[in-house]
Amino acid sequence: MSDATQYEPVIGLEIHIQLATNTKMFCGCRLEFGAEPNTLTCPVCLGHPGTLPVPNEQAVKFAIATGLALGCSIAPRSMFHRKNYFYPDLPKGYQISQFDIPICANGELSGVRIHRAHMEEDAAKNIHVGESGRIHGAGRTVVDYNRGGTPLVEIVTEPDIHSGAQAREWLQLLRATIKRLGVSDVNMEEGSLRCDANISIRPVGQKELGVKSELKNMNSFRFIERGIDAEIARQTALLNAGEKVEQETLHFDPSSGSLTSLRSKEEAHDYRYFPEPDLVPVAPSSELIDEIRASLPELPLQKAERYENDLGISAETSKFLAFNAEMGAYFEAVLAAAGDGADNKRIGDWVVGELVARIGADADPAESKVEPAAMARLVSLVGEKAVTNAGAKTVLDKLVESGGDPDAIVEAEGLAAMGDSDELAGIVDAALEANPKAVEDMKSGNMKAIGAVIGFVMKQTQGRADGGEVTKIVREKLGL
Ligand code: ADP
Ligand code: ZN
Ligand code: MG
Repeated sequence: MSDATQYEPVIGLEIHIQLATNTKMFCGCRLEFGAEPNTLTCPVCLGHPGTLPVPNEQAVKFAIATGLALGCSIAPRSMFHRKNYFYPDLPKGYQISQFDIPICANGELSGVRIHRAHMEEDAAKNIHVGESGRIHGAGRTVVDYNRGGTPLVEIVTEPDIHSGAQAREWLQLLRATIKRLGVSDVNMEEGSLRCDANISIRPVGQKELGVKSELKNMNSFRFIERGIDAEIARQTALLNAGEKVEQETLHFDPSSGSLTSLRSKEEAHDYRYFPEPDLVPVAPSSELIDEIRASLPELPLQKAERYENDLGISAETSKFLAFNAEMGAYFEAVLAAAGDGADNKRIGDWVVGELVARIGADADPAESKVEPAAMARLVSLVGEKAVTNAGAKTVLDKLVESGGDPDAIVEAEGLAAMGDSDELAGIVDAALEANPKAVEDMKSGNMKAIGAVIGFVMKQTQGRADGGEVTKIVREKLGL
């Protein structure tokens, strides 16, 4: 064993997305999250004998749109299969899914190849009441069949991801893309976007993939990143200790950071897939596919490019705004409020640099107290030098705290910038007098010494003076 072995993590993701159709995949039952349990069911989605599934046309269109947005080719004829297993949340004893011919395949999104994206129906929801719900445990398990039959698209990536952080960032882009398409709510807390991560490690330079484990059903970006990193660390420790990684399914507990085994390879299901005899192949016409392609909106990747090229926003900021669905929508709302001729780059920098610093990168700014119009106005006040950067930051603090109107806050807090006023000139005089050493240093060529003078002025004016303006006055006064 040598501790010099360097391992490369390899990660492939499987993402389930609930489609935001009005009704279920194969019956007319309405879809509604949080409805009274077992009120949205019918003989079809309860698996009664003799009932027949009818595919939801909207769901098929949404699946095609998803595939096109992910650069996939759309199969001219794809099949539904039955995936057989027994569980209380699956009253038919099988899930209708797709097997060897999925509707979408061979795509790519931002450097991660998409192996396939297929349609299937969701299972119902087991609810564990009391303790564990095991047969011998104190608790029991009840089933809410409302979710059963919800249309899903399952997206399977190639193993092209190499860290927890990359997985998180890529998933954020995927989520923003799906959200922009409008085919799903992609709400992780409500389970309309669910992600499993397949993880292995291999010695750097080795082509063959290592044995993988699968982390099930993580329901936040942060947990996904942490779970993947924890699993990479666990596998690395195993290999470094001369042991082997077992193929198994794991659960990550975010509160303790621990990984527990749900099942091993030996317990893996054999699903006995066979073609669904009650459904004909899905055969979308090329006209329909072209029509859906033509109606795709501007997607986050294109949006990031536009921000960078047309608005002059840095690549990193552009991606942050475009790949984060909520942040992007907010930014667009601020742009709209600012109107033509606004300094869009400055708006981007204030939203990403300052607002995010105050509300957090995962927050939805639309839910903050800072109205887009207020944000737009604040940035324009900075641009007009009506407030200094420091003053504007104080205004933003207030906006985040209790909302309101930037002009009113500037007025109430006395934050208006001083500009080129006699008052400012007077304070600069006082600053020069109080800092004779700095004056001497500047006169002998060390302009860095101006820091002390600016510091004095800022303190006196509580940040209302403009640093550039102060420098100009100092240079004039000292003849520099
Ligand atoms: P399984 O048959 O176990 O479901 P698949 O070949 O269908 O495995 O792949 C499922 C997912 O696991 C895909 O996202 C794929 O990219 C990923 N994957 C497959 N093998 C590995 C591996 N050795 N390491 C990491 N990810 C992998
Ligand atoms: Zn139904
Ligand atoms: Mg698989």
